Amino acid sequence: MLRVRDLKTHLYLKRGVVKAVDGVSFDLASGETLGLIGESGSGKTMTGLSLLGLPPKPAGRIVAGSIELDGRELVGLDEDVLAREVRGRQIAMISQDPMTSLNPVFTVGEQVAAPIRAHGMAFERSAMDLAVDELDRVRVPSAARRAGDYPHQFSGGMRQRVVAAMAIACRPRLLIADEPTSALDVTIQVQFMDLIEQIQTDTGAGILFITHDLGVAASLCHRIAVMYAGRIVETANVDKLYSSPLHPYTQGLLDSVPILGRRQKRLRSIAGNPPDPLSLPGGCAFHPRCPHASEICRKEAPPSVSVEGGNVACWLVADSGA
Ligand code: SF4
Repeated sequence: MLRVRDLKTHLYLKRGVVKAVDGVSFDLASGETLGLIGESGSGKTMTGLSLLGLPPKPAGRIVAGSIELDGRELVGLDEDVLAREVRGRQIAMISQDPMTSLNPVFTVGEQVAAPIRAHGMAFERSAMDLAVDELDRVRVPSAARRAGDYPHQFSGGMRQRVVAAMAIACRPRLLIADEPTSALDVTIQVQFMDLIEQIQTDTGAGILFITHDLGVAASLCHRIAVMYAGRIVETANVDKLYSSPLHPYTQGLLDSVPILGRRQKRLRSIAGNPPDPLSLPGGCAFHPRCPHASEICRKEAPPSVSVEGGNVACWLVADSGA
C-alpha cells in the first residue's frame, strides 16, 4: 500500500542544513502496523510529516525520493491536490498532544464533522450524525450528548480519542500515530493501544506508529524500523528485532530499557549523546558511540543489506556477507 524510497527531507536553517530524513526507504501493507523507533531528533516525526507533505515551513523541504500510496506518487503533487485528496482523506495523523490538534472554541462534534464535510463524505446522513458514530466508535461514552461539549470538558485520554475519531472519520488508508500515548497515564495508554488495534481491525488501515517507547512498540507493531540520525538502520519483524537485534544501536536501545518478556541481565545506557544534526559524523553516524566501530565505519556509510525478513545498515553485517 505504501512504498517509500530514498526519501530525503532537509531543513534549511541559518546555521546550516539539517538532513532530518536522509534516504529513508520502507514499505507498509494494509492492516499492518510498522513501528518507527529511535531517540529524539532521529527523524521519526519528520518522516511522518513528510508523508503528509508537511515538512515544517519555511525551512523544511522534501528534496528527493518517492512516496507511493496505492501506486500514486505523492512527492511533487500540487499543494491543492494534497489538501483536497490526500491529507485527512487518504493519510491522517494522530499527534502527541491532543490539545494542539483540537480547537478550543469549537465543540468536539463540530471538529470531527469538519473533515467529513471537507472531503464530501456525508451522503445519506449528516456530517454531525457521522461524527457521533465516530465518537462512539472510539468509545467516547454518551457520544451523542458529548458531541456538544468543548475540548476542555474532556480528560486527556478522552481528548486523544476525539483526535483519533477525527483522524479515522474519512477512513484513511494510512494512519500516522506520532507518540499518541506519551501524554497519557499508563492505564489510559493501554486502553488507547487497544483502541488503535480496534481501529485497524475496523478500517484495515496501515499504521505508522512513531514512538520512543520500546514496550509500546513491542505490544502493538508487526514490524519495527529503527532510526538514527535521519536514517533507518535496522528493519525487522517485531519478534526478531527484540530477540536478536543485529545493529549495535538497536542492541544499545534494547539494553537500556526493561521490556516485559525479554531476558535482560542488567540495563546499560548507550555511550555518548545523539550527534549534532548540523554536523553529523562522517561514515556511519553512530561510529562515535559504537563499541564495534572500525576504520571503515569512520570513512564510509554502511550499505543497507537484506537479512532474514528485514534490512540492516552496519559494516559488521555487510562484511559478514549477509
Ligand atoms: Fe558500529 Fe560500524 Fe556498524 Fe556503524 S557500521 S554501527 S560504527 S559497527
